[in-house]
Amino acid sequence: MKVTITEWHGAAYWRWNTDEDDDICGICRHSFEAACPDCQLPGDNCPPLWGECSHVYHMHCIHKWISQEASKGQCPLDRQPWEDKRA
Ligand SMILES: [Zn+2]
Ligand SMILES: [Zn+2]
Ligand SMILES: [Zn+2]
Repeated sequence: MKVTITEWHGAAYWRWNTDEDDDICGICRHSFEAACPDCQLPGDNCPPLWGECSHVYHMHCIHKWISQEASKGQCPLDRQPWEDKRA
């Protein structure tokens, strides 16, 4: 039996567009509208945190990443030294 996929409705939905990922966390891939996987509920306790390299992650996600030795204190996307951006 030959199976032919004529339509794949999921393709557009799942397509990854790195140019339009500003509203999702680069570590957990969750939206900033929602909380990180460590938080049960979205809210002010889990804010997005910008770095000097202009990447943005959930505060918990980047802090958890930076606390790992393997991170070397670098942004996981561009390997620049991570610095919290101050307004
Ligand atoms: Zn996250
Ligand atoms: Zn969180
Ligand atoms: Zn970065």
